Amino acid sequence: MQNLEMEVFLCRSDNFGVLVHCPERNLTASIDAPEAGPIIAAAERRGWKITHILTTHHHTDHVEANLELKERYGCEIIGPVHEAVAIPGLDNAVGDGDSFDFGDRRVDVIETPGHTAGHICYHFADSKLLFAADTLFALGCGRLFERPAADMWHSLHKLAALPDETAVYFGHEYTLSNARFAVTIDPDNARLRARAEEIEAARREGRFTIPTMMGLEKETNPFLRVSDPGIRRNLLMEGKTDEEVFAEIRRRKDNF
Ligand code: ZN
Ligand code: FE
Repeated sequence: MQNLEMEVFLCRSDNFGVLVHCPERNLTASIDAPEAGPIIAAAERRGWKITHILTTHHHTDHVEANLELKERYGCEIIGPVHEAVAIPGLDNAVGDGDSFDFGDRRVDVIETPGHTAGHICYHFADSKLLFAADTLFALGCGRLFERPAADMWHSLHKLAALPDETAVYFGHEYTLSNARFAVTIDPDNARLRARAEEIEAARREGRFTIPTMMGLEKETNPFLRVSDPGIRRNLLMEGKTDEEVFAEIRRRKDNF
């Protein structure tokens, strides 16, 4: 099998548009549909026709272009079963443990409630790709709009069980602010400090920080490191549960 080809670009103000192209079968999936113009332009730039939209959750900045793209390309829209009524043009509702074919590849659905109640992520295990949208960001995680912190912690824990070599594509370029926050939670983490400097430079030069790698996130993302003794000491939370430490870090980020 040839490698999947990817095209990453900005939509709206800080949403990522991502196209995933399967060269053997000439299939192209848009990961969410934040904005029609940039998605169509990216597809035309590569000479690809969009055949699928893989929707992660119902927020407007992820589904706004669903109907326009469906009208233009006749593409199939796959999305979260627990938010089915809120996904425009949904054809195929999927939930935790479901899988479907994208050409010759299998795509596994992982439900990650937290940011929204029915948020799903798409895992292409053979290609070592995860599309995590607003659940897991580089050095961050999504805000808790519809579920409590303990649910989000459980969701992130599921994602962290994927192989370290998994490339993680996420929904927003929030990495600079996430990095500045992360060093306040985990100040003694040398790998994090080095990464934060790389991110400062990348953003200064206008470079995106997508994708990240799961192994790197496990070493540097404070939301995945709530059991780390140094972080717990820094937060004066040494006797607390993982869920409590996670909730405290999330609360601090909301006020950062
Ligand atoms: Zn969202
Ligand atoms: Fe979003």
